[in-house]
Amino acid sequence: MTYMVQIKMAAFDPLSYYFSFSLRTFASKTCWMKHTNWGKYPSIEAPELSFREGMNLDDLNGSWIPRGMGRCYGDSSLGEKMLSSRSLNRFLAFDPTTGIVRCEAGVTYEDLLETFVPKGWFPPVTPGTKFVSMGGALASDVHGKNHHKEGSISSFVKSFDLMLASGEIVECSPTARPDLFQATLGGMGLTGMILTVTLQLKRIESAYIKLHSVKNRNWDELIDLFEQYQDVTYSVAWIDSLARGKHAGRGVFLMGEHATEADLQGTKYAKNPLAIPSKKSFNIPFDFPTIALNRLSMKAFNLFYYHKQFKKETHGFAHYEGYFYPLDILDNWNRIYGKRGFTQYQFVIPPENGREGMRDILNRIARSGHGSFLTVLKTFGHQEGLMNFPMKGYTLALDFPIRKGLFAFLDELDQVVAAHGGRVYLTKDARMAPEMLSRFYPQLDKFKGILAEVDPAQRIRSMQSERLGMHQERSRVR
Ligand SMILES: Cc1cc2nc3c(=O)[nH]c(=O)nc-3n(C[C@H](O)[C@H](O)[C@H](O)COP(=O)(O)OP(=O)(O)OC[C@H]3O[C@@H](n4cnc5c(N)ncnc54)[C@H](O)[C@@H]3O)c2cc1C
Repeated sequence: MTYMVQIKMAAFDPLSYYFSFSLRTFASKTCWMKHTNWGKYPSIEAPELSFREGMNLDDLNGSWIPRGMGRCYGDSSLGEKMLSSRSLNRFLAFDPTTGIVRCEAGVTYEDLLETFVPKGWFPPVTPGTKFVSMGGALASDVHGKNHHKEGSISSFVKSFDLMLASGEIVECSPTARPDLFQATLGGMGLTGMILTVTLQLKRIESAYIKLHSVKNRNWDELIDLFEQYQDVTYSVAWIDSLARGKHAGRGVFLMGEHATEADLQGTKYAKNPLAIPSKKSFNIPFDFPTIALNRLSMKAFNLFYYHKQFKKETHGFAHYEGYFYPLDILDNWNRIYGKRGFTQYQFVIPPENGREGMRDILNRIARSGHGSFLTVLKTFGHQEGLMNFPMKGYTLALDFPIRKGLFAFLDELDQVVAAHGGRVYLTKDARMAPEMLSRFYPQLDKFKGILAEVDPAQRIRSMQSERLGMHQERSRVR
């Protein structure tokens, strides 16, 4: 790409320099310790090695899996050995006329935002935390609150460099190795390690989001709101998953658009519309006792959240930090779930079965005694791909503390989701049964075939891929 302007941010920006220095110091070490991802279940004692240019993959002995920031919830990036992308933290090129950026795969959303928001550019799709690497984002094909209008991150990926199990590095794009391009986006790290990513950013005039929120009293009202406001760019609903009967599905529907400079005229934000907030966060210093998160405390939280908005409708502005990453202000917020951890159950159901399917699932949850602390609903638009999670429909994400009987209950929900033609998100999964995988992901055999071609010895494996049988049986591998 000859038109790109080369920039060396790590050399000039003191913050990036510090970041880069501390990560590179870490990079020279092998971390053999207990590892978990965000749900803190499961855990594995295994070495995490840092990627080094020119490293000999044969030295890894046995199997390995790429690892980014460990923000998947379950075991997707845990394995016999983990190859960390954290040393891959440089921006390589940026074209200020087109907004196309090329960076290493360990660059995070936080790095992207801090570097490009002041220049008037924003990630085209963002998950609900900014502590996610670009490699991890592509491997899960992450979605945001705008999937129904703009798709997942894969819609904005121009190309990436992928290191295969053999050590060979190949460029993948919609035209170069298109099969591998498709299998890697949503492929949960199993095709190889993404080293660099070329991504289209989105133009913005301000760092603020124009908000519109509407309270809804029940499930039907909520679905009507999603249908009424389907042209809004960002939408998400928080739901009180413990409400029953005629209140089931009540919550708050939150919509957002990037505010323009004209929108901000006359407000306190107009003076510095592309402002980045100062880094402020609070730490949860230890695992909460398991008893702290019980049905009563969850009910209290859900009630408080529902009633904190008095009016039926409100309008206003929010900084992108508060709108997209409300929980990032609390470091280690996963500790509130205690030592046993939690799992996020996220599924999608096609629109034709959405109303009934969701109602059925919400009723089962309310009856089960397994309360979800945080429950959010979004909509997805059409999606191409092999192992990508999104499909047109409604997607619900629920956070369940791990306790006795939970996994059996989630197995029951898996059956309901499958019966409605839906699927469960692999990046949040830690417990699904292998027989569900091909029901949820009908192109699984094609994916397995691609893995068999690029990694015949099955060197790249995760706890998840082993648990779910994501590779061909060895006798079938050529
Ligand atoms: C609070 C919170 C909110 C979230 N909100 C959303 C959301 O709104 N939408 C959404 O889609 N997801 C969401 N997620 C999930 C998160 O975006 C994904 O799990 C993402 O993949 C995590 O990236 P990571 O860098 O932490 O990678 P990890 O968690 O370390 O790894 C995740 C997967 O990516 C693979 N991987 C990592 N790096 C590479 C690489 N360089 N090359 C190849 N494969 C790689 C791993 O092998 C693994 O399969 C959320 C997570 C949290 C904790």
